[in-house]
Amino acid sequence: ANLLLEVNGLKKYFPIKGGVFGRKVGEVKAVDDVSFTVKEGEILGLVGESGCGKSTTGKSILRLSEPTAGEVKFQDQDVNGLSKEDMRKLRRNMQIIFQDPYASLNPRHTVEKIVGEPLLIHGMKSSGERKERVRELLKVVGLSSYHASRYPHQFSGGQRQRIGIARALANNPKLIICDEPVSALDVSVQAQILNLMNELRDRFNLTYIFIAHDLSVVKHICDRVGVMYLGRMAELTSKDGLYNNPKHPYTQALMSAVPDPDPDYQKDRIILKGDVPSPSDPPSGCAFHKRCPYAMDICSEVRPEFREVENNHYVACHLYDDTVQS
Ligand code: SF4
Ligand code: MG
Repeated sequence: ANLLLEVNGLKKYFPIKGGVFGRKVGEVKAVDDVSFTVKEGEILGLVGESGCGKSTTGKSILRLSEPTAGEVKFQDQDVNGLSKEDMRKLRRNMQIIFQDPYASLNPRHTVEKIVGEPLLIHGMKSSGERKERVRELLKVVGLSSYHASRYPHQFSGGQRQRIGIARALANNPKLIICDEPVSALDVSVQAQILNLMNELRDRFNLTYIFIAHDLSVVKHICDRVGVMYLGRMAELTSKDGLYNNPKHPYTQALMSAVPDPDPDYQKDRIILKGDVPSPSDPPSGCAFHKRCPYAMDICSEVRPEFREVENNHYVACHLYDDTVQS
């Protein structure tokens, strides 16, 4: 498959202001040198605890949050170099679905207006045409045309997420960034929405970046998974590679936090020490070293490089660096 998206050295730093004059006193490195690619038709998972930078990565790709540095290429086009007008055109192809569909749907607008808005923005001037297209989109996401005249509060959480998906699909995008689209839903509803998203991917040849805070959700839907920790990519590989052979100690810990009925598996549970450190003051060297059961002397001093250690299996950890003596 062709490469759809290329992210190189993406950084997003937020200034910390303080003191009486509100001067910049530091910065939060929310995304710090993240690189990955996404192929056409692929579902790439981005996983990590809150504050690891996964949502900011998604928003920086769409330039909803202006990146501090790095390169984002969509179909070989450098996104960061685009004018506002060209960016607006490109946005047709890149959409985002949020965790809380309720917060992202205007409560005073009908579904008709909500789903029709992106059509209008991108030039579908005829209200009759829009009406027609909205009804078609509602069917595509498993709702009915009579829902068009209703308001967001008249729907369940799962239905609202379907409305959000319909809106994202309105202009036939290529890439959809899904920012924890099922995290706020009941488990039974989660499966329905995930199934729907999978179907839509096949039907419309969509590509997803699927952001989640735990590995159990992405297991069912993703082709490849990247694990992020404190603004950096810790590990990135195929779903099978990650689940069968997790290499980064942080991935192993996340994996062991997924409940598993197998008693042998429970023996291997890794309990992490401490909380996630503050992204405004990340530990030196490997940002994970204060919590890592395998930390060596070098880990607090040298930041491990994100390297391909096996075919298509990337890890940032000194354990896989042959030049490091433990
Ligand atoms: Fe642990 Fe060191 Fe690997 Fe970091 S580099 S994950 S501290 S072993
Ligand atoms: Mg988030």
